[in-house]
This record gives sequence, C-alpha cells and structure tokens, in this order.
Amino acid sequence: MEKDLFIYINGEYHPKPQAKVSVYDHGLLYGDGVFEGIRAYDGVVFKLKQHIDRLYRSARVIMLDILLTKAEMINAVLETLRKNNLHNAYIRLIVTRGVGDLGLDPRKCPKPTMIIITDVIKLHSSEAKEKGIRAIIVWVKRDPVDATSHEVKSLNYMNSIMGKIEANITGFDEAICLDKNGHISEGIAENLFIVQKGVIITPPTSTGALVGITRDVAMKLAGKLGYTAVERNITPTDLFTADEAFFTGTAAEIVPIVEVNKRIIGNGNPGSITRKLMQEFEKTVRDPTEGTPIY
Ligand code: PMP
Repeated sequence: MEKDLFIYINGEYHPKPQAKVSVYDHGLLYGDGVFEGIRAYDGVVFKLKQHIDRLYRSARVIMLDILLTKAEMINAVLETLRKNNLHNAYIRLIVTRGVGDLGLDPRKCPKPTMIIITDVIKLHSSEAKEKGIRAIIVWVKRDPVDATSHEVKSLNYMNSIMGKIEANITGFDEAICLDKNGHISEGIAENLFIVQKGVIITPPTSTGALVGITRDVAMKLAGKLGYTAVERNITPTDLFTADEAFFTGTAAEIVPIVEVNKRIIGNGNPGSITRKLMQEFEKTVRDPTEGTPIY
C-alpha cells in the first residue's frame, strides 16, 4: 500500500490527494517558476546546500523573490522529510511566480507559491546501470544561453520533453541534445560525459546545459581517482568514437551509455572508468560530510 505522504505548500502540510494549487498559478499557466530535484540516501540529503544555492541563483535570473532565507528553506526541506518519516527520498522543490491573472505579467503575482514534495524514491532499473543504455541525438536543439537556457532550472521543460518524445517514438532509452552550433550539450535531464584516451570530458555549460550538481561531483571524483576531467566541446563524431560515455544526474545518478544513434560506444559494454566512477559515487552519496543529515 502506498504511504500517506504530506506535501508542503506555503508553510502548510497537506495530504497528497489534497495538495493542490490554483489554476491561476503562473507556474501552471506559463511555466513561470524554478525548481530543484534532490535526493536523500540513508538519512543524508546529498548536496542539499548546493541545490538550494542553485535554486536561489535560478530565481535571481528570473527575478523571483523567494520569501524564505536559504537556512529557512533547508529547514523546510528537512522538516518535510521528517514529517513523512523518510530516509531515502526524491525531493522536488518548486517555487512558482504564484497566483496572478490570465495575462503573463509577473507583476500581477504578489506572492510566490512554494511547494516541497518528498516522495519515496523509484530506483532506476539495475539493468540500465549494469548493461548501459541506448541513446539518440535528436533534432530538438537545446535552448541557447540567450534564450530559456537550461542554465536556469526553470519550470519550462518543453525542450526536454520534445527530446524525450523523439527518443520514445524511435525506440531509444534516452535523448541527447545538440546546441545550435552542433556541439553535444546534454541529455534531457542529465549531463553527458565521454572518455577519450583516459581523459574525462564534458561539454561547457555555454552549450545551454545545466550546471549539474552530479556533473560537478563526477568531475571531483574523477580527480580523486587520478583522472583528468575537463570541460571541452564535444562533436557528434567525438561521441560516436569515444571509448566510453555516461550520463550524470540526481535522478539518473551515473548511467553508462553504450550506443548512440546505433553507433556502438567502445566495446558496447559500460567502460571501466565509468564503472569506477559509479562505485565511488555510491560511497559518496551516503557520506554525511557530503550532504545534510535529516535527523
Ligand atoms: N540537465 C538538465 C536539463 C536537468 O534537468 C538535470 C537534472 N537536474 C541535469 C542536467 C542534471 O543535474 P543534477 O546533477 O544537478 O541533477
């Protein structure tokens, strides 16, 4: 039976079936808002402070005033987890422009809506982690940095959804987006890495990719394991001919990519450096010094 979960909305807790917002909320009407996806592992919220920092950075760009301080926001997240007695969870933190009229002018929205959903985590199939996934570079370009770039984690995910639709209808597990110059940007909700001759490479965020927190962790772990990790443009040819490739993300964690547009990556199995990073990542997410304890 599903657990009764409480959802935080503007400082109050509502049982999941009654957790509702207005149809005049500009988060719904216009995708006007920002969010974070965060995970808790065995009672530790991994990189909570970094996620909160990114939320406030996103909000600053779209000129949305979050009414809570960062410390209050952290407490609200931890309290919601405690209220639901969760140790392992996926946390969705959402701040919308709030309720306004049917026009899109944000000045008509006096108060942001704040939502914290803490749900039980659905684990990714261990098969995907074991065997790796098959991805396709899609026609939908990542929104550029002078548009609704994914550098801001906004509620506008149509760009990623269009990518996912292409992966779905062509029978691939995941989509990879290019930037408008034809360089690899990222997955739909994951950053992308390749390994070439032992060097770990990820595209710069000037391709419109999100400054991923798992991306940052993967680069640091690569350094710790003695590898060089760099930000550099990646062409489709670089990807097709890479020794290894993998995605990183809060939900995805680290997932090997073994095929791109039917080109086999490396020998078609998850690469050895990718595997080492996955093992190191498993340890890091449970390290209390890498996150914030719930209890
Ligand atoms: N890119 C996009 C577009 C995303 O939505 C996400 C998920 N937040 C990522 C990359 C991975 O970022 P993170 O490691 O911070 O979850």
